[in-house]
Amino acid sequence: MANSRVCLLRHNLNALFPPCSTSMLSRPALPTRRFVTSASISSKESLITSPSTEQSANKNPRWKPMCLYYTQDKCTMMQDSCHLQKFNHSLCLEDFVDDGEYKNRHSEDLDYFLVLDLEGKVEILEFPVLMIDARSMDVVAFFHRFVRPSEMSEERINQYIEGKYGKLGVDRVWHDTAIPFDEVIAQFEEWMQKHSLCNKEPDSPLRRAAFVTCGNWDIKTKIPQQCKVAKMKLPSYFMEWINLKDVYLNFYKRRAAGMRTMMNELKIPLLGSHHLGIDDTKNIARVLQRMLMDGAELKITARRNPLIPEKVEFLFENRIK
Ligand SMILES: [Zn+2]
Repeated sequence: MANSRVCLLRHNLNALFPPCSTSMLSRPALPTRRFVTSASISSKESLITSPSTEQSANKNPRWKPMCLYYTQDKCTMMQDSCHLQKFNHSLCLEDFVDDGEYKNRHSEDLDYFLVLDLEGKVEILEFPVLMIDARSMDVVAFFHRFVRPSEMSEERINQYIEGKYGKLGVDRVWHDTAIPFDEVIAQFEEWMQKHSLCNKEPDSPLRRAAFVTCGNWDIKTKIPQQCKVAKMKLPSYFMEWINLKDVYLNFYKRRAAGMRTMMNELKIPLLGSHHLGIDDTKNIARVLQRMLMDGAELKITARRNPLIPEKVEFLFENRIK
């Protein structure tokens, strides 16, 4: 059932997310270590850097690495059939196996889930969000940006990116596309308005949608930290969220330390590169789909105090601490 929907979606995605034209591909290569994912990759293709296939689950014949220029609206090679064959240009969850009875109990309050999984410990380096329809469980849209740290020297940024993304082979695309956090947030708000996820007024709360994260760290800790560094007010749509680990604990009655444990226990193969945010977000979305199909009810698990936003109330008695 989900598979046929996903396939339909795949055909429509190119229309939904046309690439914007930039000249970045003509820029000279940066002096960073290259990681070529395939022996047959051409020099032109090597600029469209994509993650290595480090996991054995990527043996799935339908899986191919994402074009990370495309996810950021910056692919200029949408007419190149070779490029399209090599790199994935849709965000549908290609390996979702719908083999169970459909028990999705739709939450009356929510039309959409926004799966978010940040990358970057010192400062945020990647901000990926998948918009999932709460009824059909399809990926409706996505937002993905690499984020340039604002308080680090160029030299430190280069080291940081080499260490974090160099081994995944996506450091070049990071350097080509990363923008400061405040610009990411401005673009994200435009994207949310386009998808009617919030009102037109600046700093509106979410409308019939909720963020879904794996743990509390992303929204509780990291977003406010990065807002401080970027000298921004914490946006009001980050006032509450759903921690999938708490829902998992209360629904399946077992604790999962992280995404990989949940995927192992639910027998969902890990696809893409773990710790590449866009791939982790897709994998978390697969867990979310499975939990919805199994009948889990997705409810807000954490909410900030409106007067003292740093104070967070956790709404589930049983939770992962
Ligand atoms: Zn592309």
